[in-house]
Amino acid sequence: MASSSSASVEIPSSILIVGSGAFGLSTAWALSQNPQYKDTSITVVDRQPFPSPDCSSNDISRIIRPDYAAAPYTRLATIAQNRWRTDFAPEHYHEVGLAVTAWGPEQKYVSSSLANVNAIGADKTEVLDSAEKIRRACGLEGKDEWGSGSVGYVNWSSGWANAEGAMCWFRERVEKLKRVNFVTGCVNKVIIDHKTNSVSGVRMSDASELKADLTILAAGAWTAALIDLRGICKATGQAVCYMPISADEEAALSNRPTLLNLSHGLFMIPPSNRLLKVARHGHGYLNPTTIPHPESEDPNDTITTSLPYTCVDDPSQSVPLEGQRDCRAFLTAIHPSLSVPSRPFTQSKICWYTDTRNGDFLISYHPTYKGLFVATGGSGHGFKFLPVIGESIVQCIQGRTPEEFKERWAWPAERVAEELWKGDGSRGGPIGLVLGEETAKSTRKL
Ligand SMILES: Cc1cc2nc3c(=O)[nH]c(=O)nc-3n(C[C@H](O)[C@H](O)[C@H](O)COP(=O)(O)OP(=O)(O)OC[C@H]3O[C@@H](n4cnc5c(N)ncnc54)[C@H](O)[C@@H]3O)c2cc1C
Repeated sequence: MASSSSASVEIPSSILIVGSGAFGLSTAWALSQNPQYKDTSITVVDRQPFPSPDCSSNDISRIIRPDYAAAPYTRLATIAQNRWRTDFAPEHYHEVGLAVTAWGPEQKYVSSSLANVNAIGADKTEVLDSAEKIRRACGLEGKDEWGSGSVGYVNWSSGWANAEGAMCWFRERVEKLKRVNFVTGCVNKVIIDHKTNSVSGVRMSDASELKADLTILAAGAWTAALIDLRGICKATGQAVCYMPISADEEAALSNRPTLLNLSHGLFMIPPSNRLLKVARHGHGYLNPTTIPHPESEDPNDTITTSLPYTCVDDPSQSVPLEGQRDCRAFLTAIHPSLSVPSRPFTQSKICWYTDTRNGDFLISYHPTYKGLFVATGGSGHGFKFLPVIGESIVQCIQGRTPEEFKERWAWPAERVAEELWKGDGSRGGPIGLVLGEETAKSTRKL
């Protein structure tokens, strides 16, 4: 991939990475492997023991696809996917295809994505220009076009990975290098010297400090609690529902492609470990939360921003009825025999995207504070890059951001009101849902 090469960078003697999700762990790996950092101490701190139960990199499955309407991501995902196929946790990767479909304006995303994949020419794609063809390719039992979509394509070279399995596989490899000091503890605040506009590490919730020359915030949807990201990144909660299925049912579905209908964002990934997962890649739930301004020492200075609220905050948390019903309606439309009343979703969770205004990652030095770097903004599609995103992040740290991502991953020149964000065109479903309101409605109906 093309990169600017001129910058000569000072190698920090200590680097602290906040967050051991996909972005943080992959960065730790890339730094540990890079001889330029052989004398640098590398610390990764996470608020939860690994793998964090509520982070977005931990689930039974994540789609691994180069199917993007933006060609740079298609190219980077193709590189990542070759790693999944070969030397990166291949036992956790399953190449059973992905059908990307729609019945509404999201068809634009579908056709751009197909063009990008075909331009690379390495993947086996098949156009599905009717609901019947989608039904056949995906082995759907139901005939309802609302579920399947009416047009789309299947990329037989896409797949999915067991996210938890792959993260544990990767963590073991990073640990074996014996270069990274892993710490469990919650970061409370970034230590900012406002006289020099510089960052020297973080303060933990027990008031201890972790000092570093370079602090990298890779705290996923929680990053917005550590620096002010209003108008730049926001946490959106996505509905994920699970249903136990029998070994025979799993066998029948496990070689079928994932179906992702972008018009409502609902998707079903082939089951694993006897669990079927139905979820929504949508605009998500907002959770506006008022917190002390993360960059201020004045406790009366507050900001309100959307932050995650998870099963760690409330172990009884489940997806609001609205979301469960949507997932259920999708299952009824595509596999009615699985969606009988005697077979409820037995688990559900809200998983938090770190959304940016256009679906691009945010991988950049902070524009104001020296010694602070941010690697986040996964926008619901970051996991597949686990094998390679750390190398890209190190390139950005060194001022060698790949040319085609220079603008995309840069710190935005201005903050944009969240209601004006356009996204990447891949999201469907309801807009403007607020978690507290939906949870309250659900409680009233129970
Ligand atoms: C429901 C859902 C479905 C998705 N599907 C796909 C998919 O199919 N394909 C795909 O490629 N991507 C998918 N994604 C997106 C992908 O999972 C994310 O982009 C990626 O995992 C983000 O990784 P991360 O490291 O930024 O964040 P995370 O994995 O959330 O990691 C952040 C870490 O920071 C830690 N942390 C937070 N605050 C603090 C603190 N104060 N102190 C210390 N530690 C802290 C957390 O405990 C956590 O471990 C999906 C995401 C969700 C939620």
